[in-house]
Amino acid sequence: DTTHGAILYLEEITVSFDGFKAINKLTLDISVGELRCIIGPNGAGKTTMMDVITGKTRPSSGTAFFGQTMDLTRMTEYDIAHAGIGRKFQRPTVFEQHTVFENLELAMKMDKRVKTTLFARLNSEQKGKIDAILKLIRLNGQEARLAGLLSHGQKQWLEIGMLLIQEPQLILLDEPVAGMSDAETARTAELLNELRGKHSIMVVEHDMGFVTEIAQQGKVTVLHEGSVLAQGTMQEVQADERVIEVYLGR
Ligand code: ADP
Repeated sequence: DTTHGAILYLEEITVSFDGFKAINKLTLDISVGELRCIIGPNGAGKTTMMDVITGKTRPSSGTAFFGQTMDLTRMTEYDIAHAGIGRKFQRPTVFEQHTVFENLELAMKMDKRVKTTLFARLNSEQKGKIDAILKLIRLNGQEARLAGLLSHGQKQWLEIGMLLIQEPQLILLDEPVAGMSDAETARTAELLNELRGKHSIMVVEHDMGFVTEIAQQGKVTVLHEGSVLAQGTMQEVQADERVIEVYLGR
């Protein structure tokens, strides 16, 4: 078994831009049900890594396995999305002119596996699924509001809900708490901790307080100059001399 039972297994991935290695022999694996935090200074290669996983950027060498058999480096962005990798970019992109409920409904109907059409009525099972997601993303009671009127944090949660409703096998979140209030950040940490074990999630984040909250039972990977500098519990990576050097510039 070349993938060691991982949902995602990157092996010696290198991405060069005009000879500059944004990713340099990066090896990384994510287990099923894991909530993995990826940190690292600006320019470490975090975005490029996510671009490789989603097929937006082709590596110059290396392999990226999704599940046991799918080589992401040979798949299109479209096929990767439909194979079950969901990505949330930093800025929320909800349908502002539609209600919270309609946003979730649209996300559900855009899911290729769901046999429905845009104007079809939802059945009770589908409604139940939306209700469960509304509770999870702390927007129950808000379902009739226009998404455009939500706070920044609520829009981010709605978009996480829109991802979850499509039941991706791997979720990539790019700086989910950027721009959030402290209270929203704390609630987002609670939300992600509730998802731990049920979904496989990779979170790239700069907010160290937030990372500490969600990394209590999991692993943190520190990227630097396109490869893994350190990996372990938050306590372990915080105490790592090389990590201290990179962050404090000593
Ligand atoms: P991070 O997300 O960790 O801040 P990035 O993945 O955005 O890091 O960038 C890693 C490095 O690759 C940076 O030095 C960046 O300038 C460079 N880079 C990223 N994309 C490109 C590109 N399309 N062309 C040239 N250089 C790039």
